[in-house]
Amino acid sequence: MRDALAHVAAELSDRGRTAGGEAQEVLEAASLMAQDPALADDVATRIGQGTNGERAVHDAFEQFKTMLIALGGYMAERATDLDDVSQRVVARLRGVAAPGVPESDEPFILIARDLAPADTATLDLERTLALVTQDGGPTSHTAILARSKSITAVVGVVGLLAEVPDGTRVVVDAKSGIVVLDPSDDEVEAARVEARTRAERADAPLTEGALADGTKVPLLANVGRPEDAVKALELGAEGVGLFRTEFLFLDAKEAPSVASQTDSYTRMLQAFEGKKVVVRVLDAGADKPLAFLNDAEEENPALGLRGIRALRASEQILRDQLEALAAADAATNAELWVMAPMIANQEETEYFVALGRELGLKVVGAMAEVPSIAVLADQVMAAADFVSIGTNDLTQYTFAADRMLGTVASFQDPWHPAVLRLVKMLGDAGIEAGKPVGVCGEAAADPALAVVLVGLGVSSLSMSPAAFADVRAELLEVTLEQAQAKAAAALLASTAAGARDAAAAA
Ligand code: PEP
Ligand code: MG
Repeated sequence: MRDALAHVAAELSDRGRTAGGEAQEVLEAASLMAQDPALADDVATRIGQGTNGERAVHDAFEQFKTMLIALGGYMAERATDLDDVSQRVVARLRGVAAPGVPESDEPFILIARDLAPADTATLDLERTLALVTQDGGPTSHTAILARSKSITAVVGVVGLLAEVPDGTRVVVDAKSGIVVLDPSDDEVEAARVEARTRAERADAPLTEGALADGTKVPLLANVGRPEDAVKALELGAEGVGLFRTEFLFLDAKEAPSVASQTDSYTRMLQAFEGKKVVVRVLDAGADKPLAFLNDAEEENPALGLRGIRALRASEQILRDQLEALAAADAATNAELWVMAPMIANQEETEYFVALGRELGLKVVGAMAEVPSIAVLADQVMAAADFVSIGTNDLTQYTFAADRMLGTVASFQDPWHPAVLRLVKMLGDAGIEAGKPVGVCGEAAADPALAVVLVGLGVSSLSMSPAAFADVRAELLEVTLEQAQAKAAAALLASTAAGARDAAAAA
């Protein structure tokens, strides 16, 4: 058993080294699971009690998995990674091949219940035309890795596995999240045209984001670590629209020092010299708990002490972060903007802006993720220098539907007019007050929706850099007036799908 665990750990690390990048981190994490001494001891104890090796491995991993699921959020999504490690160890013990993607000489669309990180990371990109999974949400590893490798993928399509025999002709449209079985020749041709257009877009020059009439719409990057800057700049980032600083400290047991934070922020700002960098202060809680900020047991963590609320309850941590940001700003030549997550009203905005100014920051704003802030848009706009809309959380809170939960995933659609109307309230208030309103949620990465957002009054778009080419091309197709007409049509729909259709038709 110990030999099998060691073998699998080494194999996962090897695959990681071959894959490189983000995949390597994921596979290293899986390898570490296989090396966990507590887990090996648990298996040994079970064997000692008379269970056979395969069963003992299975049961020990299951117990570990139950623990992770109970933690919820990010940790729960890692739980499925354990299944893959466990199955590999069992396969090794049985002397059979490790489970994984079947071999094929022909290019194929892969339909699976879910993919283990090891499978996604080492997919043969020459042969894999697209991925469709039944499980997993937008934040599962499959989705994260597919996005980082620009693989066409649709996740969370329930029931497909049973319905599609091997060899079926399938069209996967990741842009609209639609999978067509047995498409007509016309549908196939339309998909081919679309695929060609995408390929051309990827090769188009890296111009600044703008509409057909020249209206500027800066394309900014969502980043989590200073190292992300290289790829973002390569793909034409005009700056950073969301630096998720909590990603730097997910494993930290104690609050990071001012010096170590200053170092990370300085590196990010240096990479974007002369450009705008919007940094979000720690967004701790719910799916991203930070040990040093969230210690209370909460029944509903998404509705609890998260974001600015958690920071306010531990104000010294917030002060340290703002101090580090001001120091990094003084040492570099980027244009630093700082914003707080989960701001719900004017009072919180005033609190954060005052603290930011006290510590020497020049541009201080609020994220719009809680619906109340849209209702109070004029008041918040009066207090903040800018607003950035986080459509992921704004959608979750508008519909009271957990963004991590597959069973309510159909609510997590920012095309819904309920969300669009809130965006319009914020856009209108921004224009009225003469203050910038950006979007930094996943909605900005959907090209057709990006156009609608601009039509609703949004002045910049921040997204994962892989989406720049598509969004850039789509913006160039419309004037501001046309974007506004599309937005107006979408607002009148009563469903998300209706809004998509209405915008396309307008
Ligand atoms: C959002 O909620 O839209 C957002 C950008 O923040 P995060 O996804 O990190 O919660
Ligand atoms: Mg958010």
